[in-house]
Amino acid sequence: MNFELIEEHRMLKDLVARFVKDELMPLEAGVLAREAEGKGLGLAPDDHKRLDEVSKTLGLWGLDAPEEFGGSDLPNVAMVAVNEILGGTVTPYTLPPDSPNLRMLAATANDRQREAYLAPYVAGETISAIGISEPQAGGDPAGMLTRAVRDGDDWVINGRKIWVSRVPEADFTILMAVTDREKGARGGISAFLVDKGTPGFIVARRIPMIGGAFTYELVLENCRVEGWKLLGVEGQGFAPMQLRLGTRRVQMAAWSVGMAQRALDMICEYAPQRKTFGLPLSERQAIQWWVTDAATRIHAARLMTYDCAWKIDQGRETRTEMSMIKAYATEMAWEVVDRAMQTFGAMGMTKEMPLQLMAAKLRTMRIYEGPTEVHKWVVARNLLGSKR
Ligand SMILES: Cc1cc2nc3c(=O)[nH]c(=O)nc-3n(C[C@H](O)[C@H](O)[C@H](O)COP(=O)(O)OP(=O)(O)OC[C@H]3O[C@@H](n4cnc5c(N)ncnc54)[C@H](O)[C@@H]3O)c2cc1C
Repeated sequence: MNFELIEEHRMLKDLVARFVKDELMPLEAGVLAREAEGKGLGLAPDDHKRLDEVSKTLGLWGLDAPEEFGGSDLPNVAMVAVNEILGGTVTPYTLPPDSPNLRMLAATANDRQREAYLAPYVAGETISAIGISEPQAGGDPAGMLTRAVRDGDDWVINGRKIWVSRVPEADFTILMAVTDREKGARGGISAFLVDKGTPGFIVARRIPMIGGAFTYELVLENCRVEGWKLLGVEGQGFAPMQLRLGTRRVQMAAWSVGMAQRALDMICEYAPQRKTFGLPLSERQAIQWWVTDAATRIHAARLMTYDCAWKIDQGRETRTEMSMIKAYATEMAWEVVDRAMQTFGAMGMTKEMPLQLMAAKLRTMRIYEGPTEVHKWVVARNLLGSKR
């Protein structure tokens, strides 16, 4: 068993590491200051534009996009390496296009949709959102009520979505809706491509989240969508949606490893310098055990994440592994970042350090794309063979 990256992927990882060090890290102080002033987590437009230019020039766009659209079609293993590095900074920048919706589109879009939606998305010309969660159905999306009904060649959608990220910037939203109540998740849920500004697609509320993030509540009020914008096969939207969620879960595990590694590096740099009661913190067993536990669990999470990615690349069934790594890596990183905050004492409580943003981000990551407890339940259910 070989966990070494092949030369090409190692070079890519080094390139991304240089991009993070040279371009993203220098922006962190500004990101932290803006968030501390209550302006939310984001980049100044000029910085965003420059990062786009630099990353595009470096060839970092479309890494896992299909080659037919100019992407590099890299395997999941390579993307784990890339995402681990990106996870080490709190500067919020996504290399276009964001992988989860890309994979869902690539798996389901027909020729017309590929041209109209996938191609510009791969080219980094558009931004997308996904609307799954509803007030009464989040962790259990099969309970969604938003309904799409045929009307001539069109679909008319009514309902409500909540916690949807990026909606105001998104050129289109992949919206999940029930097309057959009887069948539900087994053949009765479909995906639709809804363009920004479509009448009846109403952004009802901006919801401030911890860590300077925002999500949005959407109201669908007789929202009319042309027939050809049904994504994939009618009633078969649940499986590609799971593919999309799985892509994000692997990505989140890799980000978590990157964040935990950064927090551990910070402890290892600081603990030998800080003296209390005549001794450096690094000579206290409490801190030594935190370091050992963190290094051990980061190692485990990293190997598990690569293992899961490799199995996906081999076309193997990985539902259990995905749930394992999503729950394990996010919880692990949450604890490691918390220990780093404790090691830094009052400094760790400031909004001048990235640790609190990492903690807030991880706090939300323990919920979105399925809460930890749901993933643990899924693993147990898969192992115990329960049907529900
Ligand atoms: C920052 C952020 C961004 C998000 N972005 C999006 C987005 O872009 N699009 C979108 O559609 N949604 C988005 N969401 C929603 C997210 O996917 C849901 O919040 C998540 O799936 C959980 O659903 P819920 O909040 O309804 O919690 P619930 O499903 O009500 O669960 C609440 C709690 O109950 C417990 N629980 C639930 N089920 C079980 C079980 N089977 N066994 C044991 N315990 C259980 C868990 O502790 C869980 O945390 C986002 C959420 C956040 C926080």
